[in-house]
Amino acid sequence: MHELQIAQNIITIVNDELSKSGNLNAVDTVYFIAGRMRAIIPETLKFSYDVQKKNHTQLENSKLSVKEIDIVIKCKDCDYQQTILEPVFYCEKCLSTNIEIVNGNELYVDSIELAD
Ligand SMILES: [Zn+2]
Repeated sequence: MHELQIAQNIITIVNDELSKSGNLNAVDTVYFIAGRMRAIIPETLKFSYDVQKKNHTQLENSKLSVKEIDIVIKCKDCDYQQTILEPVFYCEKCLSTNIEIVNGNELYVDSIELAD
């Protein structure tokens, strides 16, 4: 399950940030960005995070917020830009398949909010 691996990576990234900043406060919320191209199931990712956070003192009461980014493609022939719900890659305006992906590949920790 790839959500499990991603949750592990998130925890590693947050712990690295905490040790770099020397901050000892508990983490309140970790904001994570996932483009829909990555086919992540937010509920599964949050569940995996909740299971693994228990081994980390600063994270044990934190929550993971997952923001999904829609897939946006741009036609290289007519420059038309559209949001797609299914990964079917053609321009709905001129029917060209000569497209590039503008948004939807994101996968990163956006910010970390600490408790007071
Ligand atoms: Zn087009």
